[in-house]
Amino acid sequence: MGNNLKAVVVGAVLGVTGAAFAQGTPTTPAAPKAAAKAAAKAAVAGKAAATSGKTEVTWWGHAAFVVKTPGGAVIAIDPWLTNPKAPQGATWPEAVDAILVSHGHFDHVGETKALAQKTSAKVYGSFELVNLLGLPEAQGMGANAGGTFTVKDATIHLVEAVHSSSYQADPKAPSQYAGAPLGFVIQIANGPTLYHSGDTGAFGSMALIAEQFKPTVALLPIGGHFTMDPAQAAVAAKLLKVKSVVPMHYGTFPALAGTPDALTTELKKTRATTKVLALEPGKATAL
Ligand SMILES: [Zn+2]
Repeated sequence: MGNNLKAVVVGAVLGVTGAAFAQGTPTTPAAPKAAAKAAAKAAVAGKAAATSGKTEVTWWGHAAFVVKTPGGAVIAIDPWLTNPKAPQGATWPEAVDAILVSHGHFDHVGETKALAQKTSAKVYGSFELVNLLGLPEAQGMGANAGGTFTVKDATIHLVEAVHSSSYQADPKAPSQYAGAPLGFVIQIANGPTLYHSGDTGAFGSMALIAEQFKPTVALLPIGGHFTMDPAQAAVAAKLLKVKSVVPMHYGTFPALAGTPDALTTELKKTRATTKVLALEPGKATAL
């Protein structure tokens, strides 16, 4: 906020002409006690409104996130809520509007079925995968890349990912074809535009995602082996033109060796101004 604008706003709250403040008159107006009280109250109310107006992102370890929007939408992504890095003793979200599942591998489907059952959330994913999950008809939102859905104040776009996708109903059952893997762009009214890439390598069409949806924060895998490593994630960040990257899909198993520090180093090499936002599992972060 510019100083003049700030002065006008403060002046307005105090019930005096903003112009005097804007011109730099430093004198405190002789405001009656009631007006001062009202001003303090207004300031507190303003602060509370600003806090509740934030988008909150909580990482559950691996590729699992819970996003809460200013408009009250709760969106769970790849909810493997029992992964080795999941917050200890944390209770699952009570109310969930939408569950987004990027592909059929166990470390992404996770507890989708149980969470959907508990919360009656709708489940968005590839047509084939959602069919395999056997959800009640009202909850299964099988779709594909190009699809767009509205959940309260969030607009969710399904986009491509470069990976594979199969689903095993249980560890002894054969793997079944689960459609194409997906990523998700979540545009939040009065909030950030998040891009959760799912499991993927870096790919040229990330530039198209940037052009179409202008994501501000990318949730990208950095572990390597099954996905991008930090060097490739730095290239992806450049294509996506995002302000920050939240690293995911690392450290869960020894094979996923990439680290947020390595990503920071790689971003520096590309002279990118993109920030690395390494989240702590279970801690809600306002974006
Ligand atoms: Zn996978």
